[in-house]
Amino acid sequence: MQAATLWRRLLGVEKTVVEDVELEEDLDGAVRLVAHVRPTSRTAARCGRCERRSVWYDQGAGRRRWRGLDFGEVMVFLEADAPRVRCREHGVVVAKVPWARHGAGHTYAFDQQVAWLATQCSKTAIMQLMRIAWRTVGAIITRVWDQTAAAVDPFAGLRRIGIDEISYKRGYKYLTVVVDHDTGRLVWAAAGRSRATVHAFFDALDASGRTAGEDRCSLISHVSADGAEWIADVVAKRCPDAVRCADPFHVVGWASDALDTVRRQAWNDARRAGHQIVRTSSSGRQRNIATGPALALKQARFVLWKNPEHLTHKQQVKLDWIAKNDPRLHRAYLLKEGLRLVFRLPATEAPEALERWISWARRCRIPTFVKLQHSIVKHRESILAAIEHGLSNGRIESVNTKIRLITRVAFGFKSPDALIALAMLNLGGHRPTLPGRT
Ligand SMILES: [Zn+2]
Repeated sequence: MQAATLWRRLLGVEKTVVEDVELEEDLDGAVRLVAHVRPTSRTAARCGRCERRSVWYDQGAGRRRWRGLDFGEVMVFLEADAPRVRCREHGVVVAKVPWARHGAGHTYAFDQQVAWLATQCSKTAIMQLMRIAWRTVGAIITRVWDQTAAAVDPFAGLRRIGIDEISYKRGYKYLTVVVDHDTGRLVWAAAGRSRATVHAFFDALDASGRTAGEDRCSLISHVSADGAEWIADVVAKRCPDAVRCADPFHVVGWASDALDTVRRQAWNDARRAGHQIVRTSSSGRQRNIATGPALALKQARFVLWKNPEHLTHKQQVKLDWIAKNDPRLHRAYLLKEGLRLVFRLPATEAPEALERWISWARRCRIPTFVKLQHSIVKHRESILAAIEHGLSNGRIESVNTKIRLITRVAFGFKSPDALIALAMLNLGGHRPTLPGRT
């Protein structure tokens, strides 16, 4: 085998001439390998953006380096000229190189491996293994996803969708996400939560439909959402014939929030009733320590949240204690559980059960649940539609949970694009493979 071919295979590059290879030592004594390369004549002098053959313009900023995959512990760089060409459409741009994406500082293989790692392991593992900053990971996965997205049709066959908002940056910012109910895939995500964001989704859907020769908005048969008006209004405009459903997962979430309000009131009442002691620490700071009922209620949060079938014996004892000592809180708990159960009933029994729940909540004398009952009545039709059309599965909830985890991992990325790329690469149904594998 010729040395040039061998080097091309080792570096994982194509349409590239390897001119020379040398070892270079940096100030710390670490050795790195620098391969001097150039595009083959057929691939040279092409626009970096559209790859069309273009005329040579100038030398640009001189020689540049791209990081490639390490050889064992040795870092690998490709070095080449980066001339500029004049494209008929894009003007003066840096010429395309066959080993890396336009504007990237890493080779295709390097990018690909980082994208794969981002769907497989922790932030620290990626940074240490690849010896790059987290922001670089963000930039890499953004360009990998951009290229993947351009090559696939995420909206093909889309019929039943869920639209939701996800907070990130500790709740300061929001993404609007669209999930396919039938495949469980994340199909679209964008920064923002407004009518304009929802319109942007339908615009993208429309545009993809024009390419495929379909009116894709009219093909959407079901849309589930959390009951927010900014979503409902746009859905009514853009696909008026779709059945609008409430996301059961959100409705049960409302009940859990109402229950937590009641629990906090009960806890505050117990503290005011004197069920706490003030302890002074050695540093002189005073702390209020809950005792008796106040302590029990403080610890009850998890018990009240958990599905009853998953309670441990100890937690069941705690629930029995609440039933005996705080009937009002226990009633609130039963109301939350009752609503959750409605979503598990067959579509034939759900309407009657929901009516029973509404009249029970209306008379329960717990203000937060009376208020909840108003919301349920307001969304009654879409709640029943969700049950009737079988959208009450845990799929949306599970995608939701996964996206929330990803927003936490993505903390530290500079732009929401990187967060979206991470979510789409993980949940969009087009997971990256390792370089050279299929
Ligand atoms: Zn061009």
